[in-house]
Amino acid sequence: MTAPKAQDITIQQIKQQAAQTAKDLAVPPFWITDWLLHVIDKPALFLMTDDAYQLIEREFAQFNTGITQMQQGTPLAYLTGQQEFWSLDFKVNEHTLIPRPDTEVLVEQVLAWINAQPVEQSDGIENKRLLDLGTGSGCIAISLAHELKIAHKLKQANWQVVAVDFSTEALKIAQENAVSNGVNIEFVQSSWYDALSTHDDDLFDVIVSNPPYIDEADEHLLRLIAEPISALSAPNHGLADIEHIIKQASKYLKVGGLLAIEHGFDQGLAVRQLFAGNSFADIKTIKDFGGNDRVTLGQLS
Ligand code: GLN
Repeated sequence: MTAPKAQDITIQQIKQQAAQTAKDLAVPPFWITDWLLHVIDKPALFLMTDDAYQLIEREFAQFNTGITQMQQGTPLAYLTGQQEFWSLDFKVNEHTLIPRPDTEVLVEQVLAWINAQPVEQSDGIENKRLLDLGTGSGCIAISLAHELKIAHKLKQANWQVVAVDFSTEALKIAQENAVSNGVNIEFVQSSWYDALSTHDDDLFDVIVSNPPYIDEADEHLLRLIAEPISALSAPNHGLADIEHIIKQASKYLKVGGLLAIEHGFDQGLAVRQLFAGNSFADIKTIKDFGGNDRVTLGQLS
């Protein structure tokens, strides 16, 4: 049997095989159809309305190359170079973690806390500062900056967002994402707080982070081969970076300010204890969309 030629392959045929292909590759079925849409550069509706469309040679070749890469462990987001988060589009590459839906819980909680703060009765707009540690693609900082622009328009506060990452490659992507999403962020190359000032005027009202938190011995890591290991896993049962961030926070956060950290499903208790042991009050852990402990918050007292 000869290999099928491009002109023989229609969307309908790929759709018919998508479930099996996904099963063979152990990837979600939508990866196959989303990859197809990316290759043919068409909106999702095209799969329904035009399924007799025949792939041209170049499209068929690109489609197959991507399927082979998926088979070798490349996630869809690295093939398309993009990932949606908080209804915004983010460019991603192998230097950045792929934004996860559960991280939206962190964004949501930070916004809820900010919105619950009393607006100070003064004539001028207040200046506020927010820090994102280990920004990666910039998804957290950019989503927050996007929402906080609205607070500015309502003349409640003027938020300055600072985002740091150790990786200059990640910062390049985050910078591009800030521009494409129309927000203004100060990016700093830094290992956690190292390059930041502890001057009174530079203290933050909010510090947020989704640090690496997977235990180095966790078998889940074996399935996450494509993403930077430094963005995923940390020593001390995954708690080393979280602990550093919490212990140093009081030097960079205003009294009464918020620290919000994403963590592993089994780290809620340990993280709450770290918050409690480092002058934080009103500590609470929030569950993700799957019902697992995912985000812990506290106010510096
Ligand atoms: N802040 C980025 C995210 O949540 C990167 C986090 C990381 O690399 N650990 O996707």
